Amino acid sequence: MQTHNLGYPRIGSRRELKKACEKYWSGQISRQELFNQGYAIKADNWRLQQRAGIDWVPSNDFSYYDQVLDHCLMVGAIPDRYHAILVEKKKHELDLYFAMARGYQRDGLDVKAMEMTKWFDTNYHYIVPEFHKNQQFELFSEKVIHEFEEAKVQGILTKPVLLAPVSFLLLGKEKVAGFDRIDLLDNLLPVYLKVLEKLVGYGAEWVQFDEPFLALSLSDKEQTAMRRTYSVIKKAFPHLKTMVATYFGGLDAHLGLAAELPVCALHLDLVRAPHQLGSLLELVRPKMSLSLGLVDGRNVWRNDLQASLDLIRLAVNKLGSDRVWVAPSCSLLHVPCDLELESGLDAEIKGWLAFAKQKIEEVVLLQRIGNHTRQDRVDLKDTPWLGQTLEQNRQYLTSRNTSTRIHNEAVKTALASVLPSHSQRSSPYAERHKLQTEALALPLFPTTTIGSFPQTKEVRQWRARYKKGELSLAAYENLLKAETERCVRWQDDLGLDVLVHGEFERNDMVEYFGEQLEGFAFTTNGWVQSYGSRCVKPPIIYGDVSRKHPMTVDWTVFAQSLTRRPMKGMLTGPITILQWSFVRNDQPRKDTCFQIALAIREEVRDLEQAGIRVIQIDEPALREGLPLKTSEWPDYLDWAVTAFRLSASVVGDHTQIHTHMCYSEFNDIISHIAAMDADVITIECSRSQMELLDAFAAFEYPNEIGPGVYDIHAPRIPSSEEMIELMEKAIRVVPKERLWVNPDCGLKTRGWEETQRALEEMVKAADGLRAKF
Ligand code: GLN
Ligand code: ZN
Repeated sequence: MQTHNLGYPRIGSRRELKKACEKYWSGQISRQELFNQGYAIKADNWRLQQRAGIDWVPSNDFSYYDQVLDHCLMVGAIPDRYHAILVEKKKHELDLYFAMARGYQRDGLDVKAMEMTKWFDTNYHYIVPEFHKNQQFELFSEKVIHEFEEAKVQGILTKPVLLAPVSFLLLGKEKVAGFDRIDLLDNLLPVYLKVLEKLVGYGAEWVQFDEPFLALSLSDKEQTAMRRTYSVIKKAFPHLKTMVATYFGGLDAHLGLAAELPVCALHLDLVRAPHQLGSLLELVRPKMSLSLGLVDGRNVWRNDLQASLDLIRLAVNKLGSDRVWVAPSCSLLHVPCDLELESGLDAEIKGWLAFAKQKIEEVVLLQRIGNHTRQDRVDLKDTPWLGQTLEQNRQYLTSRNTSTRIHNEAVKTALASVLPSHSQRSSPYAERHKLQTEALALPLFPTTTIGSFPQTKEVRQWRARYKKGELSLAAYENLLKAETERCVRWQDDLGLDVLVHGEFERNDMVEYFGEQLEGFAFTTNGWVQSYGSRCVKPPIIYGDVSRKHPMTVDWTVFAQSLTRRPMKGMLTGPITILQWSFVRNDQPRKDTCFQIALAIREEVRDLEQAGIRVIQIDEPALREGLPLKTSEWPDYLDWAVTAFRLSASVVGDHTQIHTHMCYSEFNDIISHIAAMDADVITIECSRSQMELLDAFAAFEYPNEIGPGVYDIHAPRIPSSEEMIELMEKAIRVVPKERLWVNPDCGLKTRGWEETQRALEEMVKAADGLRAKF
């Protein structure tokens, strides 16, 4: 049996790459210094994997920004607008690369960045390749070859990773409609062949082709394109060993297609789809090897070695050990680097976890134990340490099954006693609307904001000093109180209708709640790349979730005491908390989501009891939680919407529930958005020029909507005229009685000055609308 890895985190265990890139962008270090940092990270990663005992270590999994962008450069898919950077300004390839990633505003040039979108159902974002009709490709960047050589010089024969041609085309989009990007395959393939020729020339034996779309649904044409790709490659390089890597799901409908591809090995994600192994073992071609993706590359839990061994045994019995490989389920890009760096984690919890480095060790361990497996039993008599390791692994798992840190009977009982009526408001929206209008006395086109106000350097410094112990809790809270008071008084004077407290006490909309809930753990160094140099540190939900004490009531009540206008209570919803965390794998995600929903429900109830009349439950991550396979959408949407309703429906009819979503399309999920039954939904809308509203109009969405009237992602201050124009568009499709006026999203990344001026314009716009309609 052989071991391999599909990709290793490239940010560096202490985010060295992030820091170096940002320094390079701000001109603090030279290109050579940035490259030196890159060389160091690559060398460390390769050596770490090789020393651990991985037979085939990947290369070209490293990237200065994004692996899809790397491929755009490799095949010369460079949109025309960037040509001036190389041609006129004679810049280095790296500057062109970063210009495509981040835009370029220098030397008299002003070019926007390429579009970015989510990498399948992960929180990683890739740069979307742009294609046009009859596009020609050329071998432009030889990064993949350089990296291969770089490792070879260090004595490591790597397995270069390429995003396969069909998946690369599918990840991109047609810039101008009127053709099918799959038709570009014939233009693209020769470049891939050239790359392979060079790799083979330098001594490459194995090449990994990432083909994630095999786990989604492919049209007949796309399937043909895939078959064609590998037969062309096979014909050109009959002796090259090729591996097709699939991940994030089972092959399902494409099992037959995958098993028949003329490649030497096929990688399967057996964490997401363990059941596909049995079928593939029946279908696989006589000489094809199977790579078993057994170690979870998407989550942080220690492997269940025995369960993995069962799958290994199944495969070995059928194929023989020389046709079986052991691997993580997907690239380890999606997990933090090294658990050993976590000194603050509780020892018991730490025992349950594995980050990238530990996962590599697990892969090798599985190979060793697997090699001692005969027929149906493990024989470890001559290697007692392996036996001990297996036994210790069993103990960790048992401790997770029984630990009181994880299992809280009160939570399980509460969940078991949830009734359908708990997810149901007392009266239908129309009746609630009457009561709320009376209670809140709001004008037509009420104005509000999405929650956060500028998190200035000062605010962040107070928090840092408080965490370091330089500020007492009382001193820290007094500073925050003063900031909150300034913010509320300013909104009151401006004349906004529904106010917010500003969220100054929050570091992050998930972490703030996670830190106060039972069942969450936090790392100090558990960074994962989100896009480019941006990294996130997701909380780890390890146990039953419950609320220890009210989390937001004091702040909200304090803010309400400063004004007679309604103060909106601000909460993060259960789906978003779930989606932006590492979630326990010992129960369905749905159950964890409901536990969070119950905790938020208690908070909602307490806010109402404390006199808060408007409560917003943010769910920006609802859409990104959608499963990759559309056949699984209804089930997800059903429990996600129910979880939201469970958190919200504890209030009386007169209390107004808001929700907020951003970066979302609604067309295909609008009935579920309506089923959430929030009294008011605010959405990001301005960049689409209100087009997103069409879905609501077509569905005759019955409740109130606040379509964002200005983009908060840029410092630009919109005029009241522009906002009126956008609202007039909205009035054409949604009855005016149901419209609110608000920005696209929270204002935490903005400065005070631009925030104030923009909101003044917004209030002016609302006044203008009231005069007109
Ligand atoms: N209430 C949050 C804020 O205003 C919402 C953020 C979000 O939608 N991502 O910052
Ligand atoms: Zn938002």
